[in-house]
Amino acid sequence: MPLEPFDLICPEVARDEQLSVVVTAQGFGVPLGRYVLREFYCTELGCDCRRVLTQFFRSDNGLQPELLAAVNFGWEKPRYYRKWSRDPELWREMAGATLESFSPQGPDAESFLALFKNSAANLAFVGRFQRHYALVKAMLAQGKWLPSYY
Ligand SMILES: [Zn+2]
Repeated sequence: MPLEPFDLICPEVARDEQLSVVVTAQGFGVPLGRYVLREFYCTELGCDCRRVLTQFFRSDNGLQPELLAAVNFGWEKPRYYRKWSRDPELWREMAGATLESFSPQGPDAESFLALFKNSAANLAFVGRFQRHYALVKAMLAQGKWLPSYY
């Protein structure tokens, strides 16, 4: 599952529909403020993994943003992911939100994961991931995006 940034594949949509989370109350274990999510989608032709990788950044720290957390999210039911792994623990984990084990993580990553789970419960959030995922798959199918690993 090669992942590429949504803001490279569909820059206008990514700019207009960037997801953000505003933390206005203590309790999540992260500093108050606005956080933006950078989305990555799988660009393997014919792969229908129905997941997103999101990276959390503070919205106000300019051109050299510090990665705070990288969260994987699969919006389908666990059994949908069975074909990617024989290990039930792995395919069950593909549904829902988890920290990406191959990515660096910030010191408060677990708190951002909790924040993500809180926000992803919002159906508008999931709907946006699904729409962006469908856009990427359509761009690939129409040959309008050539995966950078070719
Ligand atoms: Zn995939």
